[in-house]
Amino acid sequence: MPHSPICPAKWRGKGFFIKRDDLLHPFLSGNKARKVQYFQSFSNIKRIISYGSLQSNAMLALAFLAKMKGWEFIYYARINKELLKNPKGNLKEALLFGMQLKDISKAPTLLENRNTLSHTIKDGSTLYIPEGIRCQEAADGIAMLALEIEAWVKQPINIFLPSGTGTTALYLKKSLRFCPLIKEVYTVACVGDSNYLQEQFFSLEPNATLHPKILEPPKRYKFAKPYKELFALWQELKHQTGIVFDLIYDPVGFATIWHHNLLDTNLCYIHQGGLKGNETMIERYKKKFATIS
Ligand SMILES: *Cc1c(COP(=O)(O)O)cnc(C)c1O
Repeated sequence: MPHSPICPAKWRGKGFFIKRDDLLHPFLSGNKARKVQYFQSFSNIKRIISYGSLQSNAMLALAFLAKMKGWEFIYYARINKELLKNPKGNLKEALLFGMQLKDISKAPTLLENRNTLSHTIKDGSTLYIPEGIRCQEAADGIAMLALEIEAWVKQPINIFLPSGTGTTALYLKKSLRFCPLIKEVYTVACVGDSNYLQEQFFSLEPNATLHPKILEPPKRYKFAKPYKELFALWQELKHQTGIVFDLIYDPVGFATIWHHNLLDTNLCYIHQGGLKGNETMIERYKKKFATIS
């Protein structure tokens, strides 16, 4: 995988750096590209099975990976018949890559404990991958991200990235812990609250000193729910930085950065991709707020 660039940016008059993992690839981008890197070298499997939501960025990454490798991809989700009539965004692309969608109620018994599953399961030539690619195997690709940051950094710096499962933030913190120029890896919980995110960290790493520092958002935002102020923030970021961010995680990330004055420190923000998913979020925003154009 080629290195992604780290570029200077300015927002509300303050400078910071952005690691452009969104530029890695149109379908396999951001942290999902990092998280599936380890699986790219697999040769003795025929099928991957995962589960989660119908618009998940992880789903699209796995669909693309499977297509590239010539594997079958079965994805269990709560089926929404309306969505399937006219699939859009991540779902549309994943189906075009050959993803087979099945109802979560028919999930195999191996996935019974799926909510606490934090590693892949290999069963013959089938590989089960936890929701959001939240697993130890993700560490390899994230270590590569850390190496790219280490090769670049010249002055003491803080890192910030918003979290879903927290897998990326956790392994980034772990991989960077011996780099003396990295002061702290900060994150914010976008799925659930800070306690939930901390539990996620513990399920992957029992040693709390290796966990990223969780910052509270200015207010509690429900995951993937449209908020007018977050859309306005996303637009403002686009205008001021010239960069398109993801609509679900990044606005919560930047609201939190502002709330904690992190731009008064030397900061590098990790852009974790997810832009294909914006299509359906923009539609939801337009539906909910007539004034959004
Ligand atoms: C998946 C995703 C995240 C969350 O990553 P985790 O490793 O689950 O914390 C953040 N931002 C974007 C754009 C994503 O697609």
